[in-house]
Formats: sequence, C-alpha cells, structure tokens
Amino acid sequence: MGQNLIIIGAGAGGASIAAEVRRRDPSIAVAMIEAGPFISTAACPMPYFIGDLIKDVNHLVARTPEKFRESGVDVRINTRVEGINEAKGVVELSDGTALPFDILALATGTDAFVPPIPGADQEGIFTLKRLPDAVNIKHFIEKEKCRKAVIVGGGFIGMEMCEALTTKNIETSVIDLAPRPVMRWDSEFTKVIIEEMERHGVPFLPETKTLSIEKGTGYRFHLNTNRNEMDADLIIMAVGIRPVNNLAKELGLDLGKNGAVKVNFAQRTSKENIYAAGDCCEVYHLISKQWVNIPLGDVANKQGRVAGINIGGDSMMFPGVVGAQSFRIFNLEVAAAGIDEREAATSGYSPACTIIWDSAITGSMPNANEVGVKLVADRSTGKLLGAQAIGKTGVVSRINTLACALWAGMGLQEIGYLDLAYAPPFSSAWDPIHVACQRLLRDMQSGAVGACDL
Ligand SMILES: Cc1cc2nc3c(=O)[nH]c(=O)nc-3n(C[C@H](O)[C@H](O)[C@H](O)COP(=O)(O)OP(=O)(O)OC[C@H]3O[C@@H](n4cnc5c(N)ncnc54)[C@H](O)[C@@H]3O)c2cc1C
Repeated sequence: MGQNLIIIGAGAGGASIAAEVRRRDPSIAVAMIEAGPFISTAACPMPYFIGDLIKDVNHLVARTPEKFRESGVDVRINTRVEGINEAKGVVELSDGTALPFDILALATGTDAFVPPIPGADQEGIFTLKRLPDAVNIKHFIEKEKCRKAVIVGGGFIGMEMCEALTTKNIETSVIDLAPRPVMRWDSEFTKVIIEEMERHGVPFLPETKTLSIEKGTGYRFHLNTNRNEMDADLIIMAVGIRPVNNLAKELGLDLGKNGAVKVNFAQRTSKENIYAAGDCCEVYHLISKQWVNIPLGDVANKQGRVAGINIGGDSMMFPGVVGAQSFRIFNLEVAAAGIDEREAATSGYSPACTIIWDSAITGSMPNANEVGVKLVADRSTGKLLGAQAIGKTGVVSRINTLACALWAGMGLQEIGYLDLAYAPPFSSAWDPIHVACQRLLRDMQSGAVGACDL
C-alpha cells in the first residue's frame, strides 16, 4: 500500500503491467519510463504498416500516454533510465532527475543485433525493432528512389518484409548465413517457402555472408558478400535480437543463457521487489521443460499482466508457453508449436516424426489446396512434442489446435480421434491433424523411422 512502482520500458510488456496494477491497486503510484517517443505499441503489424496495408501509424498504438495519464499513470516518454541507485532507492533518468521506487519492473525488450560489417552504419540501412524504425523505413521509401532492396537475414521478420517491400514495387532479395530461411521449420517446408518467394520475384541466397557495404554508383549501396556482389537502394538488417539487460546486470539480477533476465512463475526476478516481463526475460517452455527466451508479443502481454496482478496484491502464476508462432509470406501461412526433433533429442526425448500433405478442405471442393503438417512425438510415451504446418489456408487454426494438445500434454492416440468441427469448406472428415497423428502412430508402432531432420 502506498508504494512507488517504476516500470522501465513501455512496450507490450510494460504497458500491460501498468494497466493491470492500475486496475488492482489504486494506492500504488505507477510511473512508466520509455526511452522512445511511443508507448503501448504493437510491433507485430509493422511490416504491414511499411507495406501500406495499414496506413495510419496511430493504429499501431494501443493506448496513448494521455490515456494512461488519465488513469493515473505517470508516463515519461523520450526519457531513458540511465541507472538505478538501489542504496538510495531511486532510478536516474536521462533528463537529470531521479524518481524513488519501492518496486521495479523491467520491460526493456530486446535490441536488434547488427553484425560488425564495414559500412553498415550508413543512412538507408535499417533494423526493424521499434515503431520509430518502421516510421523511418516508410519515410525513406516514400522520399528516396528505392528500386532494389536486400534483406540480410531470413528469419520471420525478413520473411514478412519480403511481402512489404515487393508490395511497394521494390525488387527484393534475401541473404542469409544459413542454408535456408526460418530454420525452425523443416527443410521440406522451407523449400516451399523459397518457391513462394521465387514466384514473387524474391530470390533467397543461402550461406551468404555480407563482408562490406560500400556506396554504389547506379544504386545507393554496393554489397560485397562471400559469394557475389549486390546492388541495393535499401538494406534491412534482420539478423537477430539481444535482450536489453544493462540495468539487470547493474542490479546484479540472475540472467539466463542468452542474457535474458531469470524470473519465476510470478514474474519475479532474483530480487524480491524487482519484476520483469516480455522479451527481456525468460519464460518456461512446457515441452522442453527449460527456461528459454522466446521474444513474442503475445507472451509479453501475458507476462506483463501476470506481473501486474502480483504487484497489485493478488496472486497469479504464468504457467509457460508451448512456443506457438506463425507468419505469412505472400500467399503462404506458416506456423509451428512445441519443439522440433533436434530440440526434442537434446531435451531428453526420443523423437519420431512424420510429414503429411493433405487437402486443407474437402478435396472435391473448388480451390482445395494442400496443407503440410509435420508432427514430432516421443517414442516412449506417444506424447506430441511439436507441430509445424504450411499451406495457403487452414494452417494457423490447425497449429492452434495442436498447441492446445501440447499444452494439455496429449498423446497421438487421443489427438488422432479428437472431435474437430468438420464441414467441406473447412476440412475433410478426417482432418489433416488426424491423418498426421495416425500416420506417425503407425510408423512408431511398426518401428518405421519417421521423416526427421536430425
Ligand atoms: C517486425 C516485427 C514483427 C513481429 N511480429 C510478431 C508477431 O507476429 N507475433 C508475435 O507474437 N510477436 C511478434 N513480434 C515480437 C513482438 O513485437 C515483441 O515480442 C514485443 O514487442 C515485446 O514487447 P516488450 O514490451 O517485451 O518489448 P518492446 O516492445 O521492445 O518494448 C521495450 C521498450 O523498452 C524501452 N526501453 C529499453 N531500455 C530502456 C531504458 N533504459 N529506459 C527507458 N526505456 C527503455 C524501449 O525503448 C522499448 O520501447 C514482432 C517483432 C517485430 C520487430
């Protein structure tokens, strides 16, 4: 009662904490400090804002500083927390002032990682992490002549940016150090993704390392790579992110393997009065049974709410995640949940896998497209460990169903007979989920080795 809470970072995680504490305990004085100009932003739709599907940047802001202030939250934007003086119980702000705290909540997110490539600091080379990045990229495309773009990094952000840039009539290529894009998905599925990219004029260049970026002649930039030379007017660096943990380190908080803040199920860090939520911290993976850093918006929202409930005087535990994730590339939906066979093996399971291709809807219906479903299960228990899917329709709904099965710890036998809604425009009587489960079960029972990427 009557305590001061300071939330550092006002993205999905921080804003969720503030809203929840406000709802629970009006006696707590809440201040939310944000280094950037926006708060409560939705970063996930940024590629669609750049591609002009979303026109107005304000549609990416869930709640403005004014709205938060009306509810009694002291919001400071364009203000960075530079340091924390625990002995004095104050946070030191970039405007030279200090604010007292009893409880701290870290929601500092991640920073985009830029490899040390000579020339990577020029105007026209962007990372896409926060809303100002998206505004700057969009502004650059509108202002400058952008005929060619190179996306460095074939992760899911790189994939989403293919669609955004080609929509703006920019000839786009993707290069990656890895042999294929989005390595979380099976090679059979990433082959389909590469074909979809090529159909839309976007080549994927594997095992390609950017060595330097020089000023170009015909185009703004000239990239030298280990395999070829490329021209571009715009470069997007999408090679990875790192948890922002400078303040956590200063506080001496326990950190996990990749530097994310360790928390418990109540979102409390290794210090009693310090909480963390969102991309900057770890989350428990219900399948691998490890604490991991999975930087996703839905997880940040949930962790923020749970932290807020606990700070606000009630009790709630965040049970963890099954790693459900999806993205779209042109006309393809791609989704996954759980773990793949490699992670299953390192987590102590004995994985078996299968991939099936089946009609997403009843085959006799017009426009029946195939959906690919990959399942990973544990040979010794028959439990589902992971699922991946790809296709033009019906992908995310199937992965969400399988995410529930993973959450519930279900086995292939049960999932293979799950009562799922059937009508010809949506599935067949035996849904691809049933078909995949029963195939894998048969393979496991007969001792046949499933199609594994191991
Ligand atoms: C292009 C893109 C697409 C994405 N698509 C999806 C998707 O489809 N689905 C999905 O689930 N997730 C997606 N994500 C991930 C999702 O956006 C993040 O998981 C989410 O934004 C994390 O929220 P957060 O609050 O933890 O961190 P952030 O939103 O990064 O907020 C952290 C904030 O802390 C501030 N900060 C840091 N240090 C300080 C300091 N010292 N003082 C003051 N302020 C500080 C930063 O300025 C920042 O605003 C996407 C991300 C990107 C970049």
